[in-house]
Amino acid sequence: MKTLIKNGTLVTAAETFPADLLIEDNKIVLLGHELRPEGARVVDASGKYVLPGGIDVHTHMELPFFGTFASDDFYSGQKAAAFGGTTTHIDFVIQGKGESLHQAMENWHKKSDARAAIDYGFHLAITDLTPAVMDEIPTLAGEGITSLKLFLAYKGVLQVDDTTFFKALMKAAEAGMLTMVHAENGDVIDTLIKAALAKGHRAAEWHALTHPAWAEAEATMRAVALAGMAGAPLYVVHVTNAMAVDQITYGRARGLSVMGETCTQYFFFTVDNLRQPDGSKWVCSPPMRTAADHAALWEAVRSNALQAVSTDHCPFLFDGTKPIEYEGQPFVMPGKELGSDSFDKIPNGVPGIEDRMPILWTYGVGQGRISLNRLVELCCTNPAKIFGLYPRKGTLAVGADADVVIWNPNTTRVMGARTSHQRTDYNLYEGWEIRGVPEQVYLRGNLLVDGDTWNGEPGGGSWLKRAAHGAVL
Ligand SMILES: [Zn+2]
Repeated sequence: MKTLIKNGTLVTAAETFPADLLIEDNKIVLLGHELRPEGARVVDASGKYVLPGGIDVHTHMELPFFGTFASDDFYSGQKAAAFGGTTTHIDFVIQGKGESLHQAMENWHKKSDARAAIDYGFHLAITDLTPAVMDEIPTLAGEGITSLKLFLAYKGVLQVDDTTFFKALMKAAEAGMLTMVHAENGDVIDTLIKAALAKGHRAAEWHALTHPAWAEAEATMRAVALAGMAGAPLYVVHVTNAMAVDQITYGRARGLSVMGETCTQYFFFTVDNLRQPDGSKWVCSPPMRTAADHAALWEAVRSNALQAVSTDHCPFLFDGTKPIEYEGQPFVMPGKELGSDSFDKIPNGVPGIEDRMPILWTYGVGQGRISLNRLVELCCTNPAKIFGLYPRKGTLAVGADADVVIWNPNTTRVMGARTSHQRTDYNLYEGWEIRGVPEQVYLRGNLLVDGDTWNGEPGGGSWLKRAAHGAVL
């Protein structure tokens, strides 16, 4: 089976150039001009851009959290991803207390393998670092899980202490694995939450007020310094504010192998969103910050202080008492209403896997904040390089998987829950106009998304074994 994408403008992290692209079976086999292969299905991409499929390295499908589950499972979340131009994601396996890492992995495979519609990998989030688990860490690298994550926040639930974090950093580095960190000071946050509750504060804005930027900056500096002392590479997830960026920059300037990402939503929203009557929609950790931080984050992704943009996709229904319709069936799951009486009970997380690339296209590239090549680098190429998927994923090159997006720069759309494929009842960008959308999305040469038509299916996606010793960028 051959597909020829003709007359498009190809975009990689380095270049923008007119060319034809030939797909044979699952791979890109030729880039060139005036290609005329026999028997190929021809797709005319005149006036359109051709991008590599997006890679979102930070997602939580069906995560058990705050007494409920994230409302997207591996099928619905991956379908939404594809409609947004993302063809690969990496989800966090969370080790339960007392569990081996392999048991935790098995639990995630059970949730994902039969449902997957796009390609995906796993990071392993360690919450209980026993001696047996220490021995297990290096075995993961050979099995294709080449990144760990530890939480310095969520005291009593996911948080680890500095000894645990430091030991994991050293062990991971020995095995050529990357350590990721949720950098917020969980002890401070726990104390602030209790103090706020004692004073009777219950409103959603208190989620942000009890998770101050300094708690993130302090934990980021601590993580950077610990990684430096361990001689380990570090990737700081969901960086939200200028002070936290500064800590990463400080470490990088001193030669440390530290990197970081931000997430789409942190460019756009502030604590004021949490003050709205529907403020719980914007509750996630770390919280939304300030307009000054938005500017700092744009500068950070331009200057390579941060290397990737992901989503932390972890949706909940706003009103989980009312079923929504999903693929013709009713769907209901407790959601943000669990915290209607108290901010500390609001499930932490927001939808975004489908929104990332169209929003960054319109409000990043379209408004002159980043170049089109940098968009591809932040959303496709760097994630592939850092997480051991390059050059199979993340670029348009001969021999790469044919994960290809045909992007129509002139199509306009209004964002919103009604047109979104994320399985929830709200969208952070409700009513925002975008110009430029993915029109066709191919996964390994298969046309998954064709305009509004979905051709994907559960089981069509593959679990990816990732390489160790990923790039430090
Ligand atoms: Zn997360």
